[in-house]
Parts: sequence; structure tokens; C-alpha cells
Amino acid sequence: MNQKRIAILGSTGSIGTQALEVIEANPEIFSVEVLTAQDNAALLIEQAQKFRPKEVVIGNETLFDHVTSALENLPIKVYKGASALISVVESDSIDMVLTAMVGYAGLLPTIHAIKAGKDIALANKETLVVAGELIMGLAKEHQVNIYPVDSEHSAIFQCLTGEAENPIEKIILTASGGPFRGKDRASLASVTKEQALKHPNWSMGAKITIDSATLMNKGLEVIEAKWLFGLNSNQIDVIVHPQSIVHSLVQFEDGSIKAQMGLPDMKLPIQYALHYPQRLKSSFPRFNFIDYPSLTFEKPDLETFRNLAIAYHALEKGGNAACVINAANEVAVDAFLKDKIGFLEISDLILDTLSKINYVQNPTYSDYVQTNEEARRFASELIQVKA
Ligand code: NDP
Ligand code: MG
Repeated sequence: MNQKRIAILGSTGSIGTQALEVIEANPEIFSVEVLTAQDNAALLIEQAQKFRPKEVVIGNETLFDHVTSALENLPIKVYKGASALISVVESDSIDMVLTAMVGYAGLLPTIHAIKAGKDIALANKETLVVAGELIMGLAKEHQVNIYPVDSEHSAIFQCLTGEAENPIEKIILTASGGPFRGKDRASLASVTKEQALKHPNWSMGAKITIDSATLMNKGLEVIEAKWLFGLNSNQIDVIVHPQSIVHSLVQFEDGSIKAQMGLPDMKLPIQYALHYPQRLKSSFPRFNFIDYPSLTFEKPDLETFRNLAIAYHALEKGGNAACVINAANEVAVDAFLKDKIGFLEISDLILDTLSKINYVQNPTYSDYVQTNEEARRFASELIQVKA
């Protein structure tokens, strides 16, 4: 009875599959209304057969016939292409949309979901990085709640429970430091994608794993936090915490600091976002202090990992600057994963793109679309010149 009906955009990814594990463990609480994938038709079909959503979307249009024929004996509507994503989220039978797709592609479906009055469980941080002001304004206008899935933001959100009257003095986002923590620039020049893809604590999609290695992920999270919690850049600190046990902290005006802790497992923040404000009983492994006699903290190295400094700069600049760095970063990470550029060139490419693209102080949606296109085109051309 009264199950919460969830649409998962990006159900075949790291967050999407873990969300389905949470839903499978709580069948009386959640039901699946919509599943979507870009290319992984085989997994989408398997998920649809198991969870029986009303609708599925395959982004890659060439796979539409394959998905349709595999599901033809089930009462499941199959759609294709990016445009289908923006209509499926509007369905009356959805209570909440989990945005678990990667990159800029999350922006438009999220806008449509908010306009249709759907609460959002937000994993796709790029949406807030690109257009945080627009998204938070729309959420307010349509009285939609945005529940963070990102573990750091979930930690802060959990620490803020019961503190509605108490202003935040600052927040402290923790960062694992990624696989290259402690290395200098000279040794980073030759690191390979295989090394960069080996995250010490979290198993995630390729793009966010590279972002974690460059510290761009933390930069994107600083911007995400600004919009989610209404903060200035000087109220957002980053501290490296290699064990990933303290997921982030909030400092209040009396100096008291609250932290949220636990083993690194995305199912917890996913579940918290899907079922807020109640906590669901879980069988996830429990953290034990005795297994972690030393939790350590260190300053991030902004000179080696320039992307974090670039993100702070974009945040302070405002306007379309964060949209530019997001676009350039997506292009750069893709090129790094295809062995077209080296690890250190990722930051070079983002800085070059930021200096080239026209600044827009108060961007509209179409300004963001144009900025994203121009920044991608410019960054892609730079890569071709270098190749
Ligand atoms: P994955 O790469 O594992 O999964 C991405 C999902 O999005 C897949 O379902 C993929 O489909 C789909 N997808 C890819 N490209 C597009 C597109 N152009 N349009 C629509 N859908 C697309 O990513 P993650 O699950 O790791 O990350 C998803 C989001 O969550 C990111 O924004 C990330 O920053 C954020 N996040 C992830 C965390 C994690 O632990 N993984 C932690 C915190 C935040 P297909 O499989 O068919 O390619
Ligand atoms: Mg995170």
C-alpha cells in the first residue's frame, strides 16, 4: 500500500544499480515506475524484467528495436532518445525522480521533473554545478524538495536535521584525496587512466572516478553545496580524509561541529534521500572504531590538484563560469579516458576554455545551453590541435 513510486534516470550505472538494491530490499516501501539507460540495453532489459516499471527509456536510439522486442510480452512502454527522458519524468504516477545519470545530460530532465512537481533525489551533481541558481529557483517556485544523494551533501543534510533555526557558520566537505594523494605534479604527468580509475574507497562510474583523482569531484561538490545549502564560497572548506569514514561536517555559530559517519557505502545516502525523513532499518555492514584506530585529516594540495582551485574560482566568479568548467571538464575527462590527453592537461584544458568563453552574469536556460555547446566545441578543438 502507498508505495513511493520512483523513476530512476540512469538505472544501469553505479548509483542506479545501488538504488535498485535498496528498492529490492524494501519492496513494501518503494516501487519502480521508470528505468532509463544510455547504451547498456542488456542490463536495462534485465532490470525491467525484474522490477516491472511502467516505462523504460533507452537513450541510444539504435538499440530501441532490441529493447522493444525483448520486453514485448510485458506491459512496459519503451521509448528512445534524450527527448523521451524529459517526458517520462512528468508522468502522474511518479512520486520521486532519482537523477542518477552522468553529466550535463541531467539538466533538462531535472528541470522537467521539477516543473511537474516531482521531488528530486539528486545524484547528478552536474545539474547544480551548471545551473544551480535556476534549479533552486524552480524548486522553490514549484515547491519541490531536492534531497542530496552525494555522500558529503547527504552527511550535511543529516547533520542539519533539527537545526532549522540555527544558521550554518561553515561546512567542511571531506575528500578521500583519490588514488594520487601525496603525489607531486612531476609524477602525475605520466599517470595512466588505469591508475586513475583505481579509487581507494569507492566504486563509481568512470567519469566521477577520474574527477575524484583530479579533485574536480570535490570542486563540483563545493559548487553543489553552495546551491543546496545557500552558502558563500568562504563558508565551504575542504579537508582530505583518506579513510572516508567522516562523510562531512557542519559547524554552527556557537562553534559546535556535527559530523555524519559510517563506512563508505552509497546505499545509505541513496536510501536516506529516497525515504527522508525516516531512516530505514538496513543490513549494511556497521562501522567499528576499533577497526579504524586512526582517522586522519590533511590540507588539500591545491597546487598539484588545480581543479579544486579552479572550481572555487568559478564559484566566486558566478554567472556561467561553473557551466564552462563543467563542460570543459566533461570533454577533458572523456579525452583522458581515450588516451588523447595526459592527466595534467585536464586542468590546462579547463583553464584555457574558461578564459575563452564569453562571461554571462545572469544566465537564462538558453545561455546555459549555448555556454555548454561553445565550451565543449572549444575544448574539443583544443584537443584536436594537441593531438
Ligand atoms: P555511471 O557512469 O556508473 O552511470 C551513469 C548512468 O547514466 C548509466 O545508467 C548510463 O547509462 C547513463 N547515461 C550515460 N550517459 C547518459 C546520457 N547522455 N543521457 C542519459 N543517461 C546517460 O555513473 P555513476 O552512477 O557513478 O554517477 C551518476 C551520477 O551520480 C553522476 O553525476 C555522479 O557525479 C553522481 N554521483 C555518483 C556517485 C557514485 O558513487 N557513483 C557518488 C556521488 C555522486 P549506460 O549504463 O547505458 O551507459
Ligand atoms: Mg561525493
